[in-house]
Formats: sequence, C-alpha cells, structure tokens
Amino acid sequence: MEKNKSTPDTTNSKKRTRKVRQLKPKPEPKFTNDDIEDFHFREDEIDDIRTSLLNWYDANQRDLPWRRINETHDEIDTKAYAVWVSEIMLQQTRVQTVINYFNRWIDKWPTVHHLAQASVEEVNEMWAGLGYYRRARFLLEGAKMVIEEGGKFPRSVSDLRRVKGIGEYTAGAIASIAFKEAVPVVDGNVIRVIARLKTISANPKDKATIKNIWRLAGQLVDSHRPGDFNQAVMELGATLCTPLNPNCSSCPVSTQCSALLKTKNDSSALVTDYPTKVAKVKQRHDYSAVAVVEILESEQPTVNTSDSGSKFLLVKRPEEGLLAGLWEFPSVSLNGKTDLVTRRRAVDDFLKKSFGLNFHRSSDIVSRDEVGEYVHIFTHIRLKMYIELLVLRSQDLHRKKDKGLMPFKYVDAKTLETMGLSTGVRKAYNMVQKFRQSKSSLIST
Ligand code: SF4
Repeated sequence: MEKNKSTPDTTNSKKRTRKVRQLKPKPEPKFTNDDIEDFHFREDEIDDIRTSLLNWYDANQRDLPWRRINETHDEIDTKAYAVWVSEIMLQQTRVQTVINYFNRWIDKWPTVHHLAQASVEEVNEMWAGLGYYRRARFLLEGAKMVIEEGGKFPRSVSDLRRVKGIGEYTAGAIASIAFKEAVPVVDGNVIRVIARLKTISANPKDKATIKNIWRLAGQLVDSHRPGDFNQAVMELGATLCTPLNPNCSSCPVSTQCSALLKTKNDSSALVTDYPTKVAKVKQRHDYSAVAVVEILESEQPTVNTSDSGSKFLLVKRPEEGLLAGLWEFPSVSLNGKTDLVTRRRAVDDFLKKSFGLNFHRSSDIVSRDEVGEYVHIFTHIRLKMYIELLVLRSQDLHRKKDKGLMPFKYVDAKTLETMGLSTGVRKAYNMVQKFRQSKSSLIST
C-alpha cells in the first residue's frame, strides 16, 4: 500500500512561501486510509507461509527451557503452566534475561500447585528486577484460582480468559502451545511480520488495526501445529524480521513478503517502512525525595552498616497502582524539581505524619547526607529520585508500629540485600552503600 504523499504547492507568492516555511509544518502522518479489513491471505499464500515457516522453525528454533517440557498427557498442565509463566515474563524483558528468571521460578514452584502455596512477598522477591510487579501478583492470584477450581488448567481461550491476569495474548499462547487449540497470538513481533507480509500502513497501535491483525493471524495459524506455528511467527519477528535490520535474505517467507517485493519495484521503499512508526507517548516527569532511614541500635554511630546492628525502615506501597504492595524506602512525591531545603521539609513532614516521628525533638540525628540522584524509567513515567541517608538513634518508630498508621517494618542490611526489591529501591540502596564506602575512605585517609 502507498503511503500518503503531500502535493507541492506551486501557486505560492514569495510572501506566502516565507510564511509556510516559518510555520515549519510537521511531517505528514504516514498512515493511509486503506481499510485494513480488505486485507486477507489467499489460500495458496496461507499454505506456502505455513509450510515455509514450520520447516524453518523445526530447523532453527531456539532451545529455551519452557520449550523442553514435553506435552505428554501427564505433563500437559505443567506445560501450560510453563508457557504461562514464560509468556508473562517475556512481556517484561528479553529472552536471555527471562531464561534465568524462569529457571529459578520453576525450581521453586515447579507446578501451579506449588505456586498457589506461595506468598505475595515470595513472588515479589522472585520477580525482583523484572518490573511491573502486578503481573507477578496476578500469576499468584491466577494460580490460586486454578487450584480452587480443581487444579486443572482451563483448556480453551475462552476459559483461560477467566483466570486472573490471563489476557487474549497469553490465553492464545497457552491454548495453542499446550492444548493445540487452533487460535492465533498477536504480539509486537507478529504485528511487524504481518504488516510487512501484507504492506499494511494503517496505524499499528490503532484498535481496529490490531483487531484485523488478529484476524489475519487467525487465517494463517496452522490447525495441526498451532502452537509451533504461533511460536514460529514470533521467532521470525524476534530473530530475522527485526524492527531495524531485517535479514530478508535468510527469511523463509521472503517470497510471500509484499514489503520485500515493493523494495524491488521502488528504490525508495524499505521493508522497515512497515509497520508505520507511531510517535511515542510523551513521558511524564515525576520527582520524589527518597529517605533511606537507618535506625542505630548501638550507642556508637558508625559509617559501616554491616556490623552496626542497625535497621532500615521500609514502608509498604499501596496494594493498587505502580509497584503495588512492594516494600520501599520512605519517599515523598514532589511538585517538580525542588531544592534540598524543600525536599527535607517534605520528608520530615511525611515521617512525622506517617510515623509520628518528630526526630528534631525526640531523636538524635546521627547524620543526614545527600547521597545523589537517580532516574528510573517506567513505561510512561520518568521518575527522578533525590536520595538521602538519614541515620537516627530513635525508639519512636518502634512504638508507633502498634498504631496501624502505615504498614512498615525494620530490616537489617543482610535481609535487605536478599529481599525482592524493585530496581529503583535496589539502586537507592546501592548508592547509599557506595556513599558510605567513599565517606569511610575519606575518614581513614
Ligand atoms: S522478507 Fe524481510 S521483511 Fe519480509 S517477512 Fe521476511 S524478514 Fe520480514
């Protein structure tokens, strides 16, 4: 399909030309008005694509741990469970990173029965570093649902969709790979491959486009080997038909690819013109002051945490929203960039309101230091954290624990190092450790 091309204005006066230049018009949107509902695969195309892709997949598929679980009758639920866990993890990060997480997860919870016995904290700990912790929590809640309903995995897409955290994509993956239901799956890789096979210029983020890509993927899926076929399309997108450098010369479906054909007839065309690029959603800029509060339990102030007998204050995030239910250092949202005095005032206010801690009067501040700044990127948020280390000699927080203000706990350095913490919290702690080391070496020299 052709992209829209702007028509040059040949009726302009000098004045008008200048005005147009000053306006710096934005680039034309690349989306066409093509009705994607008109796209379809011909029967002969479908046969060729299925055969070529499955042959290629049989010879080239990557050896991944979740693919090694056989689909014997006894193990079909284990297979479904492994596909479920791996697919949820793969929605978070790259395959190479997922392999370690997956292996550790399966070692600890080899079946859905084992997972259903886990606590949210254990699951968060295992998930630490993958981000988007709600997905981990849904895995646990979903496992509990499966066990409550008899312990067998639902066999079809429609039944799988009733399990907490299983959406259309994951249901399609489990149903096709574990239970051989001839249903498609559509992820970013599949969208890219199909957009190139059919030169689809419609906005790939648009609901109508995605719906029609599902329809096209449904035409292609092989009824005898649906799971392998779905994995083959995704594998093609992940390894050869990549976003920026597709390896068309090694591609098993190059003869069926309209985008590649187009490049042969039009020297200005590129296969990477498909799918059409969509401007990224602008990130929101958030700011927060993070207080790593350390309570000294010995009389002697120290710069070395490991043997000080000190405890760190952790608070639990709300059960809904970003990083739901995770433990973190106390932090306060700020209204944009702020100076140190304003940040400290906000932190003091928060500690006072949340824990009744008025340490200026009732506690000794052993030290209070700025440790540094760290920017953490979430999908749509760029969070800048100002981190400070506040070392106190105080008993007040212990007393306030009974008042049920905000869930919090104290942990020693050893526990903190092995806990499942979000990447941002882990980074803040590492920065504190580095800061201590440099402070310690300054004192000793
Ligand atoms: S020929 Fe190139 S663009 Fe077309 S599907 Fe294969 S790798 Fe992708």
